[in-house]
Amino acid sequence: MQILKVGNMCAKTGEKVSGYVQVKGTDIELAVTIICGEKEGKTVFISGGVHNAEYVGIETAIEIANEILPSQLTGNLIILHLMNRTGFEHRTMSMVYEDGKNLNREFPGNAQGTTADRICHTVVTEFQKNADYYIDLHCGDGYEELTPYVYCVGVAVPEVVKAAKGMAEVINVPYLVQSPCGSGGSYNYAGSCGIPSILIERGCMGRWSKEEVELGKKDVRNVLRYLKVLQGEVSKRTYHPVDVGNVICKNAEHTGCWYPTKKAGANFRKGEILGYIKDYFGNVLETCTAEMDGILLYQVASLCIIKGDSMVAYGENPNHKEGAKGTDG
Ligand SMILES: [Zn+2]
Repeated sequence: MQILKVGNMCAKTGEKVSGYVQVKGTDIELAVTIICGEKEGKTVFISGGVHNAEYVGIETAIEIANEILPSQLTGNLIILHLMNRTGFEHRTMSMVYEDGKNLNREFPGNAQGTTADRICHTVVTEFQKNADYYIDLHCGDGYEELTPYVYCVGVAVPEVVKAAKGMAEVINVPYLVQSPCGSGGSYNYAGSCGIPSILIERGCMGRWSKEEVELGKKDVRNVLRYLKVLQGEVSKRTYHPVDVGNVICKNAEHTGCWYPTKKAGANFRKGEILGYIKDYFGNVLETCTAEMDGILLYQVASLCIIKGDSMVAYGENPNHKEGAKGTDG
């Protein structure tokens, strides 16, 4: 008989338990489901809502927690439905309500810090500590437009990087990015601790749809099948993600109004203009120009853009061959 403990919740072999885990040192309670398989095996941690306006990931976590049964598992799932709960309840988008921090910049956190630090610390010491693998469900934030893609950890021991890449390759999205970071983000930090981890980006702009959630659940199930934790074979996919290299994340140098010229997912050539920042009179303050041929992974889509905050992110698309024409798609 196996017993899996997360905070003050626990589940035994063959049980599914849902309840709340308290963020240590706060009165915040996080919704959690533990599914302990009838057969013993590896434990997969799944989280939604690190960024609270990324609704596709949150709804995917909620539905996966409801649908998967202990009888289907050789191993266990720990599902954290919504990591930034107070942010969600105040619609703060990426920020924790109490301190204005972005959770995915604060890992591994600190038990004595502000609320965001304490959430990160609880996630590391109660959730990641139990995990053999980790799937973090994101999407574009409330002001971000993106093309679906998947990150896997890139800064970790080679076996962990390889295992994470294998998980990412069964995700049904066109692009895969190996993260150059070993800290800050929840999945980055988990990777640096030896847990193969991926982050799925699907959906954006504070919206969600049944279709996107179905695709998200299919992705999660396929990773679990690939890991032999969920019964069945990895199902057919439309996409087999290709590696996007040399990712450039450009931050804005001015606060003002943003006028992007491309759509997320567009391919372009070095020197093409990706957008303008203008002041409130319509005067151009800044021109964003592509530093290389690339595929646009995500960009700010709100009229408001903020100095020092993200503007565009793009990388090299191996499928966009030299000599091919740029597309504005
Ligand atoms: Zn996110």
